[in-house]
Amino acid sequence: MNKKTIRDIDFKKKKVFVRVDFNVPLKDGVVTDDTRIRAALPTIQYLLEHGAALLLASHLGRPKGGPEAKYSLKPAAERLSQLLGKPVKLVPDCVGTVAEEAAAVITAGEVYVLENVRFHPEEEKNDSTFAKRLSVLADVYVNDAFGSAHRAHASTEGIAHHLPAVAGLLMEKEIEYLGGAVDNPKHPYVAILGGAKISDKIGVIDNLLAKADRVLIGGGMANTFLKAQGLEMGDSLVEATSLETAQATLAKAGGKLLLPVDAVIADAFDANAATQTIDVAGGVPAGWRILDIGPKTVAAYAEALKGSALVVWNGPMGVFEFPRFAAGTNQVAQAVASCGATTVVGGGDSVAAIEQAGLAEQITHISTGGGASLEMLEGRTLPGLAALNDK
Ligand code: AMP
Repeated sequence: MNKKTIRDIDFKKKKVFVRVDFNVPLKDGVVTDDTRIRAALPTIQYLLEHGAALLLASHLGRPKGGPEAKYSLKPAAERLSQLLGKPVKLVPDCVGTVAEEAAAVITAGEVYVLENVRFHPEEEKNDSTFAKRLSVLADVYVNDAFGSAHRAHASTEGIAHHLPAVAGLLMEKEIEYLGGAVDNPKHPYVAILGGAKISDKIGVIDNLLAKADRVLIGGGMANTFLKAQGLEMGDSLVEATSLETAQATLAKAGGKLLLPVDAVIADAFDANAATQTIDVAGGVPAGWRILDIGPKTVAAYAEALKGSALVVWNGPMGVFEFPRFAAGTNQVAQAVASCGATTVVGGGDSVAAIEQAGLAEQITHISTGGGASLEMLEGRTLPGLAALNDK
């Protein structure tokens, strides 16, 4: 990575504004999944060990432009305090007198969490005055919020223009694996893409076709490709407006793009629907829809993974929320975990499938950023990364 990281800076007696991604799920004021908080610990601990005072900032949820108790970072600060085994103070605002007074008294080794940056509408507008007001709190800016790096907001981008600005360890790791897959992939490189819609991911597919040796397609998005090949799709999810794009992509893909050869179909979009497994070559009968890839497809995809050096997976192979249609996603998860390649998994659904199956330990890198990881795979520059100081 050509950006400076926290290893390039002396933090002794420095006040550090650390943008983290503490956008965690909550229930009754308690954090129900602390993965993102844990993911920020290496950076937080490194900075504390090197003599810094930490002002952590994050967004949480989508407040409507002002403070809302349900979007307070208080539960996240409490969870962080438990994980660190030391007090963590919540500062009730991220800018203005309250924040400036807190920044004036914080000392080395202390951790304060600034209240939700999205309580100010200027955050998402990347307002330059607001970015400046954030910056006056600290001597150095650290961005460790990979999951927000595809957004040019005041705390992810604007502030970096006012302070020495470097990447945290999570950011560095994400860029190493995802950036590596884009800029300098090991071959054979196999990408697996699933999820509902082709229109969301066509740019990703096109970029992957240029970089990878094989691109395996599953999920609802496969249907539009199959329809573009002239197959009957019954009541399956098909994006009529993407048929031409799908045809063009198929034409330039040559043999690189693998599509499902069989599917699990259902007579309703329902967890308890009647099911059948069919070969897609015969088409999907009227009144039925594809909700998962079939066993022959799983076998073909597992075969394609054999001998690969790098595998990147994003998006489920079917409607895995319904157990009857989860086999394709679960078996692909197994195949990815056991293929022996460097494996990178991103996107909430694929990560959930890996974790539910207890396979997380066998994956080289599980990305914390769904949207950000897709934008990287699409070959786009992430504004939150671009704004950091070059090496
Ligand atoms: P995305 O947000 O684009 O990654 O899509 C994830 C969603 O795609 C999940 O909620 C799945 O239930 C859904 N999905 C996967 N396969 C299908 C399918 N064959 N038909 C309809 N939805 C699907």
